[in-house]
Amino acid sequence: MPVLTRLRSQFPDAMPIGTYLDRVATALDPFDFRPDGTFAAVSICRDELTQQLIEQVAQRWHRPFALGGLGGLPSLGRTGWQACLSHVPDADGRGHLLVFGLPHIGMDPAGGLGQSLRRHQDRPTSTCGAINALLDVLKNGPAESLPPGLDDHEAQRLLRFAEQGSGTVPLEIVELTLRVATAIEDEMWTELDALEAWRTMDVAVFCGVQIHVPERSDHVLSTGASVKGADGVRRPLVL
Ligand SMILES: [Zn+2]
Repeated sequence: MPVLTRLRSQFPDAMPIGTYLDRVATALDPFDFRPDGTFAAVSICRDELTQQLIEQVAQRWHRPFALGGLGGLPSLGRTGWQACLSHVPDADGRGHLLVFGLPHIGMDPAGGLGQSLRRHQDRPTSTCGAINALLDVLKNGPAESLPPGLDDHEAQRLLRFAEQGSGTVPLEIVELTLRVATAIEDEMWTELDALEAWRTMDVAVFCGVQIHVPERSDHVLSTGASVKGADGVRRPLVL
């Protein structure tokens, strides 16, 4: 199936990454997230394909703090979150923290989902590799144990989060990627609320799925957007 046909049929609400970020900025206009005073933090997978998002966020809100581990799940722990919060500009009073959390999914040149044809390779490879591996574990049980001296803590943490929720095993990669996006958003708010970030700063969290479309800009399917201000009430935003 042609790539754009597949994109529109599978993710009809996905938009180019620049459009997505423009809509984020517009949604935040009523909340005074001015580019100069806003601190961005991004949780995306370690895959080099995801990095376009970092560049585009940096163009709008300065260089972001890196939150992410495999699959886009925040991997920095309580110490890392505290470091992130301590960097938020507050010279004008309340700070403004803008958080993104996005797992990703590749498309191959034939429109196949869950893999990408990478630079100077002649066959597609798994994208997201971590979420595809997770799908395999959920369907078929744990993979063979690692050689001594290695650990796999980010993948194991991803598995723990993916097993929460509905309890059913996702049958395919899109469903599991969407489940990971939801888990990331829940984890963001759990950490930010545990640290009571809203007491000193306005916090906005945007989650979705980053889609790598061959020959095109990355796209984003938004899955969640909300902001919490000085009253501690989380309000959904419409993109
Ligand atoms: Zn990945």
